[in-house]
Amino acid sequence: MSIDNLEEERDSLLDEIESLEEKCDTLPICEEDDGCEKCETYKKIEDLSTKVEEIENKIENKIESLMPEPEVED
Ligand SMILES: [Zn+2]
Repeated sequence: MSIDNLEEERDSLLDEIESLEEKCDTLPICEEDDGCEKCETYKKIEDLSTKVEEIENKIENKIESLMPEPEVED
């Protein structure tokens, strides 16, 4: 998968997270202290955030592998 594809995937996950966060804010359960610990929406947000992190790591690895080897000077 190319970096562009990975970035696209990450952006769509971020959009999804954003709309879930908006929903989370409106749930009655989330107004209670620690309410989000029991909230399904918040769980989904955490799952998606983990995926975003994984994708960002992949992007970073790809970028690193594209960089030329540093030249050794003596
Ligand atoms: Zn919540």
